[in-house]
Amino acid sequence: MIPRARWILDRELRLRQEGRAASRRGKRDLGEVLLMPGLVNTHCHLDYTTLRGRIPRAPNFARWIEALGRAKAPWRAADYREAILEGLREALAFGTTAMLNWICLPEALPAAGAPPMRVWWLWEQIAYRPDAKADRESWDAWRREVRARRALWRGGVAPHAPYTCAREVVRAAARWSARARTPWSLHVAESSDEWRMFREARGALYDFMRRVGRPLSDCDGRTPLAAVWDEIAVSRAPAVLTHANCLDRADVKRLGAAARRGVSLAVAHCPRSTRTLGHPAFPLRALRQAGVPVALGTDSLASNDDLSMFAEMRAFADAHPARHPREIVAMATLDAAKALGAGAAWKRWKDWIAIPCSATRPSGVWDVLLAHQGPVAWAMVDGREVDLETLKRRAPCAAPEPAA
Ligand SMILES: [Zn+2]
Repeated sequence: MIPRARWILDRELRLRQEGRAASRRGKRDLGEVLLMPGLVNTHCHLDYTTLRGRIPRAPNFARWIEALGRAKAPWRAADYREAILEGLREALAFGTTAMLNWICLPEALPAAGAPPMRVWWLWEQIAYRPDAKADRESWDAWRREVRARRALWRGGVAPHAPYTCAREVVRAAARWSARARTPWSLHVAESSDEWRMFREARGALYDFMRRVGRPLSDCDGRTPLAAVWDEIAVSRAPAVLTHANCLDRADVKRLGAAARRGVSLAVAHCPRSTRTLGHPAFPLRALRQAGVPVALGTDSLASNDDLSMFAEMRAFADAHPARHPREIVAMATLDAAKALGAGAAWKRWKDWIAIPCSATRPSGVWDVLLAHQGPVAWAMVDGREVDLETLKRRAPCAAPEPAA
């Protein structure tokens, strides 16, 4: 049963003060809190949770990717798994109850000890060599394995990026995901290095990919999005396009036209990661005008401080002060679920969180919501109350984030 609270943000994202009548029905009363839907993170790599603060700033994106590769090179499956468990605990303590999470190694999928959360586990595919092929049988096995592991989990695939995946693999991922009825995702148009690689056939990422043997004939002046557009445009599975910081007008137009045509696509924007890595500013206004759905994600702790979606909403609000808090919260709840193809189901999910709130007016409640730091006061996933105290003791997130 959903408890009583002073303020409730319902699953239509309508804010109301709960009347006294409810308490007479024997409901549990959480008191001076805002009860709201659990948050949905559309982009994360939990297996990098233990890299928090460990990847130094790099002169460019290609160097940063190389540093990330060096940091995880000695890791075994158990190291990835430990990072994943740590990340799940932190994300849930911070109020995230559903997420789309990329995973490098299928063997790292936790078997026990994972807190309750809805997770779409997308197996990252890096396949840029000339003979790269999609291994659909492995993908099928992965999907079955994830589903068998937890009722709230789903398995899918994520071709890493246009610069690390042959178009055949991207196309296979899109088609396979439609058959498997699961969202798929790729990083696209994230950095100016990626832009230069495709548009100008030069730059640090171009040189890096040439060194590792990627064919470069598609670096012919097209944009990064255009390099994989044919695959996205015909996708019949929800496509989560991560980052999309570097788009030209034609890109925005094709995204808008596809969204209007009914192609299920959305952009996953990671405000703090974009800022940390010094990427070009996210083209929010252009995407909104074109009618392209946008949702929020944290990205990994290799480029972020913590897994709090509250902090992500706050970073977004700081960058876009004219946006109403309801629009921002939607990007971390309903719009995020829609991006995963779970918009209709989301309305029925019994996933709730509560944060302290003694505001007396709705405007004050929105302020409290966007200012919230640290773990939530209460959480429920799939109708079951989460043991937050145990979770917080084991999560590395117990200290509130430092003030910006
Ligand atoms: Zn990512």
